[in-house]
Amino acid sequence: MALNNTYSFDEFLNWRNNVNFYADDTFLQKVAMHFAGSDFPRLDIEARRLSELTSFKWRDISDDIAWPHNRIFMQHYDGHNHRIDRIVRPKALEEMEKEVFSQGLFSSKTSPWERLIKMILIYENGEAGIDCPLVCTEGLVALLEKYHDHPELEKILQHCKEGMDGNFAIGAQYLSEIHGGSDVAANDLEAVEEGDHWRLYGKKFFCSATHADYVVITARPKGSEHVGLFVMPSWIDKKNEKRNNYTIDRLKWKLGTAELPTAEITFNGAIAYQTGHIQRGVANVVGIVLTHSRLTVGLSAAAAMIRAAREATAYANFRTAFGFPINQFPLLKRQLNEINLYAKRTLAGAFKIYEMFQSLPGGLKGGLTTDEDIATQQKRFRVRILIMLQKIVASWDATDVLRKAISVFGGHGVMEDFSSLPRLFRDMMINELWEGPRNVLLTQIYRDIQRAASWYPVKQCINDLLYNADSCVIDDVTAAFDRCLSSNFIYPGQDNDELCLLWEEAAHKLLHEFQNCALHEVEAAREDAALAGK
Ligand SMILES: Cc1cc2nc3c(=O)[nH]c(=O)nc-3n(C[C@H](O)[C@H](O)[C@H](O)COP(=O)(O)OP(=O)(O)OC[C@H]3O[C@@H](n4cnc5c(N)ncnc54)[C@H](O)[C@@H]3O)c2cc1C
Repeated sequence: MALNNTYSFDEFLNWRNNVNFYADDTFLQKVAMHFAGSDFPRLDIEARRLSELTSFKWRDISDDIAWPHNRIFMQHYDGHNHRIDRIVRPKALEEMEKEVFSQGLFSSKTSPWERLIKMILIYENGEAGIDCPLVCTEGLVALLEKYHDHPELEKILQHCKEGMDGNFAIGAQYLSEIHGGSDVAANDLEAVEEGDHWRLYGKKFFCSATHADYVVITARPKGSEHVGLFVMPSWIDKKNEKRNNYTIDRLKWKLGTAELPTAEITFNGAIAYQTGHIQRGVANVVGIVLTHSRLTVGLSAAAAMIRAAREATAYANFRTAFGFPINQFPLLKRQLNEINLYAKRTLAGAFKIYEMFQSLPGGLKGGLTTDEDIATQQKRFRVRILIMLQKIVASWDATDVLRKAISVFGGHGVMEDFSSLPRLFRDMMINELWEGPRNVLLTQIYRDIQRAASWYPVKQCINDLLYNADSCVIDDVTAAFDRCLSSNFIYPGQDNDELCLLWEEAAHKLLHEFQNCALHEVEAAREDAALAGK
């Protein structure tokens, strides 16, 4: 037996170390070109510029900060008995965060397509302590663009969008309380009005991006049946680490997104500013803020999948077993094809949903109906349903695809120091849970479709969603929806296991077929362009 086994992974590692997330991904470029249209040439330059950072420097930092010895921790007091609740994070993460936020992604100078492509390139590195703060800031900006009728809110909006003295603010969102995260309307955190602002008292139990500058926060005005929505600055005096009358009790120890602080917090008179009508808090937080977060879950799932598919494909080309490259074994080849198909259609579907979302007149509006014409209301409804469907299906598929990609690497797949895939897998598991868990959204979609049936029959809705699918596919999906909607099995006391399973499958099938439509659209456009000699 040879004492010195000279086997080396270097050929694969050389390839991987030099992959540029954008420049080497012709499919991503094609999708961007198709959907961004005339914005593409400028976007292409910007994406290539950012990709030099995400594909190399930020990629390495993202891996490095995930090591246990770099784990974030709390320092509750300084050496002079001042309560500071400092969140200690690796310096490299803080520098990367500054570089990411300095891109001005939410500036009015950044077009929506430019923002989208840049976010995807950033998301290819997984959470890395960056994704959650980015999307929370996006949600905060969207909320404040609608409601900024207080000088403080106007200042916060400018700080997030355009920066102040070169410093761009970071947002967070605190909704969940210990007794129930799904049911925001059951919030207990109390808001007491005081002049032109409010003060908050009570606890929140899941507070991610705890290091943020400003927080979108739900609370119940004292004595009210309704939950209101507020924006809370994190600091009274940031330089001297004086928080806004709240204490960070504990950081959670999590399966995934470990580089991101998620805390339990007690508020004792924190100053906050009302955003929107005080009785419309739940509608506004769901309709505006969570909608952005849910869209992002779809995008980050697509980003993680395209990275996993790329790396698994290259590894299967490099690795041999029994004298063959492993990508020549039919079983493995099929799995790889599936991984690549899921990655591509999730990406195409995410761009298509973003296109539909961008075309909504006047942006997002809370609630199921508006006073617009029926065609616009139906369009809004399709976007609403697609965003929820994408949230649950893309996050579900992402863990599945990551698991399969890991298995292509065999035992090396689960080694945290062999590739980033185990970390991405753990992050994807979190995507499934936050921003509205699966069962809650499956129930919401069911309820919405029932409520809209009088002005948007389910058959018409599915026909519109599956805009280039074969009629037999549309008929199949419609039949499953009709069957589920004919009984109220989804509500407590009406149990029907068969229909519950059918509803999950039908929801997945509808989104997958929609993603296939988007993929066909991109591929057909490529063929048209080829025929036209472009
Ligand atoms: C890492 C991480 C970070 C987070 N960060 C934040 C944050 O920054 N801000 C924030 O506000 N929240 C945050 N959350 C909380 C997250 O949004 C909640 O965990 C989520 O909303 C679910 O709430 P819960 O955990 O209380 O579960 P529960 O509400 O107790 O739900 C438990 C189960 O019951 C199911 N269920 C509940 N209601 C229904 C229904 N009507 N029909 C069918 N099934 C139902 C759910 O799907 C779930 O499977 C974070 C969570 C995680 C894991």
